[in-house]
Amino acid sequence: MNPGKTMVLVVEDEAPIRQLLVTTLEAEGYGVHEAGTLREGEALAGNRRIDLFLIDLGLPDGDGLRLIERLRQWTRRPIIVLSARAQEQQKVDALDAGADDYLAKPFGVAELHARLRVALRHAAQSGLAGQSLLRLGELSIDLQARTLSRGDEALRLTATQWRLLEVLARQAGRVVTARQLLREVWGPGHAEQGHYLRIYVRQLRQKLEPEPARPQYLLTETGIGYRLLVAG
Ligand code: CA
Repeated sequence: MNPGKTMVLVVEDEAPIRQLLVTTLEAEGYGVHEAGTLREGEALAGNRRIDLFLIDLGLPDGDGLRLIERLRQWTRRPIIVLSARAQEQQKVDALDAGADDYLAKPFGVAELHARLRVALRHAAQSGLAGQSLLRLGELSIDLQARTLSRGDEALRLTATQWRLLEVLARQAGRVVTARQLLREVWGPGHAEQGHYLRIYVRQLRQKLEPEPARPQYLLTETGIGYRLLVAG
């Protein structure tokens, strides 16, 4: 195996999907290890260098969620979950257990690569001071100076609005669950109070979006949470 390649571990029991992932990833220059069961996946994770995990949640010998929980005891490498489109609660549980993002099956190849790039870029940047400046169309967010501006015009946010934007911006491009946002913005006692979140998301959209009713930056991931899309 080429030591310079980004290595992906694919854990998926449906052979046609696994084969599609392997072919697609290899064509894009990734190195791939593949497993069809939770047990095989865990064994490979433990004795190979892996840069990113792609994990199906429904595995023949157990729930992929258990693998995510075990991986998160020792690695911060990105984990992307594969799951059927309707299984929203499963995706939320996986994200809350430490997965970075999810792909709903069936997924497109472009979507797969985009998710991988975001997750790998985020992993490479975490721990670095950089990437404190983000662009949303004409807006720029400076996470260090805690400012939001359109050209020379500074836009004012309340402390709570800012905190919400900050949590989303620090995970830019990735989905953040409603539970994670509530916990980080309002505190652990508020994890069930989704109406706070909806109110503040609406307020933020008024500031960020050219057409707040048709958001292009602060996206709703139905049943799961929100995702802030940034340029570059
Ligand atoms: Ca499966």
